[in-house]
Amino acid sequence: MGRFELDLHVHTLASGHAFSTISESIKVAQKKGLKGIAFLEHGPALPGGAHPYYFSNLKVLPREINGVQVFFGAETNIVDDNGRLDLEDTILSELDFVGVAFHPRCGYENQGAVKNTEVLLKALENPYVDMVVHPANRAFPLEIDPIVEAAKEKRVIVEINNNSLLPITTRQGARELTIEFALKCFEEHVLVALNSDAHYADLIGKVDEAYELIKEKNVLPELIVNSRLEVFLSYLQEKKKGKE
Ligand SMILES: [Zn+2]
Ligand SMILES: [Zn+2]
Repeated sequence: MGRFELDLHVHTLASGHAFSTISESIKVAQKKGLKGIAFLEHGPALPGGAHPYYFSNLKVLPREINGVQVFFGAETNIVDDNGRLDLEDTILSELDFVGVAFHPRCGYENQGAVKNTEVLLKALENPYVDMVVHPANRAFPLEIDPIVEAAKEKRVIVEINNNSLLPITTRQGARELTIEFALKCFEEHVLVALNSDAHYADLIGKVDEAYELIKEKNVLPELIVNSRLEVFLSYLQEKKKGKE
């Protein structure tokens, strides 16, 4: 353990406040020996986020570049109290991998843990959602148990976001919350992903801080969905069945 074959959360220029291209990102992934990378560009509700046309046109791109498996998706935003996302199901259904996140100024603002949890649970009703992005976030507190239980029931991955743990982060108190989320996931056998959330290509595959927090917590390797390409592919396969 300690080596991960995939990074399932990377941003490019298309996200509006990230700094690398798809080609640059893949070169770095290849150099670091990654077998797969998922581009989760910010959805249209985030200021500067990609337009819906960007997502609907991802079909023109190859899914293997320089020997790296590439998954194109979105980091969707919750836009209202009903847990509605900022991309239509017709677009989501064509993406390879879909994350959901709370971000300010996207329509839904923090209303405290009880309400945030209720709204996220509604968002998780959407069968196209594959991963909860950076749930350990004091700006949008959540009740951990119901979220992890819903993730288990709907086979949604819970992210352990390395970006939130960097000293430069704006996500306050993320360390303690990250540990709490992770422990609950391990207890319930819910899949987690250790992701960089890189906004610059050199940061791709950097999940040291996230791994540092959980490595002594008795985690079953098969629960870390980005550890091996096969594990992730079988996850996608199984998840797809649930959407049909
Ligand atoms: Zn971002
Ligand atoms: Zn992100």
